[in-house]
Amino acid sequence: RGICRFSTAVATETLIAPNVKVDHTQLLIDGKFVDAASGKTFPTLDPRTGEVIAHVAEGDKEDINRAVAAARKAFDEGPWPKMTAYERSCIMFRMADIIEKNITELATLETWDNGKLYAQAAEIELPMIVRIIRYYAGWADKIHGLTVPADGPYHVQTLHEPIGVAGQIIPWNFPLLMFAWKIGPALATGNTVVLKTAEQTPLSAIFAAKLFLEAGLPPGVLNVISGYGPTAGAALARHMDVDKLAFTGSTSTGKMILEMASKSNLKPVTLELGGKSPFIICEDADIDHAVEQAHFALFFNQGQCCCAGSRTFVHESVYDEFVEKAKARALKRVIGDPFKAGVEQGPQIDSEQYEKILKYIKSGVESGATLETGGGKCGIKGYYIQPTVFSNVQDDMLIAKEEIFGPVQSILKFKDINEVIKRANNSHYGLAAGVFTRSIDTANTLSRALKAGTVWVNCFDVFDAAIPFGGYKMSGQGREKGIYSLSNYLQVKAVVTALKNPAWL
Ligand code: NAD
Repeated sequence: RGICRFSTAVATETLIAPNVKVDHTQLLIDGKFVDAASGKTFPTLDPRTGEVIAHVAEGDKEDINRAVAAARKAFDEGPWPKMTAYERSCIMFRMADIIEKNITELATLETWDNGKLYAQAAEIELPMIVRIIRYYAGWADKIHGLTVPADGPYHVQTLHEPIGVAGQIIPWNFPLLMFAWKIGPALATGNTVVLKTAEQTPLSAIFAAKLFLEAGLPPGVLNVISGYGPTAGAALARHMDVDKLAFTGSTSTGKMILEMASKSNLKPVTLELGGKSPFIICEDADIDHAVEQAHFALFFNQGQCCCAGSRTFVHESVYDEFVEKAKARALKRVIGDPFKAGVEQGPQIDSEQYEKILKYIKSGVESGATLETGGGKCGIKGYYIQPTVFSNVQDDMLIAKEEIFGPVQSILKFKDINEVIKRANNSHYGLAAGVFTRSIDTANTLSRALKAGTVWVNCFDVFDAAIPFGGYKMSGQGREKGIYSLSNYLQVKAVVTALKNPAWL
């Protein structure tokens, strides 16, 4: 218990390239990098140390107004919605190519600002971002309406038109990936964008935006504002000239976003919010595989995933074996500098999340769960937390109900399938679920009964550009990725034309 593998044994030399300089810290408005109108900046911190990496322009309401005006002009007068869909598609393919050529720089910024593993950023997330942009680049010239039959002498067609100016607000846990999920469908469908980055992680998106300009994205089509939620974020959500809003973040902020949108111009909103996803291990599951997948489902990205498998339900017949193996796996987890090879877990994003996670761990102990391993801080500086495993967790404990967003696994026991369905669904959230079984019938029953936007069967966290993602209940509204995301950014117009000499009537 309590062993902290803050490893120097496995880790090799730091990969951080000191030649990756942070030289993009301004706002992108109308194709130009500019300071905030107020002249204010804010520091962005290195989660490994808590030290300042750079001071970044602090956009607020006035900058949002400037950015929305630029996006409006680019939409109404600029070439983006008017160029052929094929031309738009070609620019987006070039955007993907230029990201691919700059993976080292982008992954370095991402790790530096967020604390995520460099290998994860460079080998998993950046290739996914390239894939997402290519996927939507491919859609740009395949969007079209329908010809619709009518009860009379009319020719009826639907036009699928861009909505206009899209406001987008993203979180810090996957800064560039969320950037790509948001801008991909919006740009492919011909909209223009004002995107606000999370205040914890402003660096990578602004650098990517600079690359997109080099790829030929016209000025004003994509505007990127760094700044805080209650100022810049709220100004975007309330703006009367923003036609559509997409948000990823906490459920409590999501509720405010909906209210701001409805009290301003009733702009349509899509929300991707928090979760408390069940991960169900049935008695016939391959236990070793389930242990590894449950570990990955929870600890990936330091536990900072909206879809983390944060309620591990294990059948009573395999419970003790599973707990022993889950504990052994957590004890082997290597914590350390995310730039080092062999490290599996870096620091949490910031002191706020770090303190919040430690409080949840304390509450788990106080409410009577069994602390199998971990439970404390790690290292002498930065925001590192020991991989923590609780067993004997009960449904009414805070650690089983609330989103911890940290490396804390909660293992619960169940007796039969009907009971676990009821308990798994007994949550305000409904983002994702994992099911581990060798029975096709059990898999079918659970995947239909669980109220979740994604059910992974004998796997977890399988993402693909074409697979939709989103939540039931308070985990969100709408879907991102795949074809589903396109409709978030399209208006359907019916055009009814009277036929003067209807030949076939
Ligand atoms: P948050 O909801 O506060 O922040 C997400 C984004 O919303 C950021 O860009 C932020 O600046 C902006 N924002 C904040 N307040 C706003 C407001 N009043 N108006 C407009 N925009 C606003 O989330 P957080 O503080 O980064 O984290 C809090 C919790 O949210 C986490 O502990 C976790 O539970 C959850 N979370 C979920 C996800 C996810 O992907 N689903 C991501 C990050 C955090």
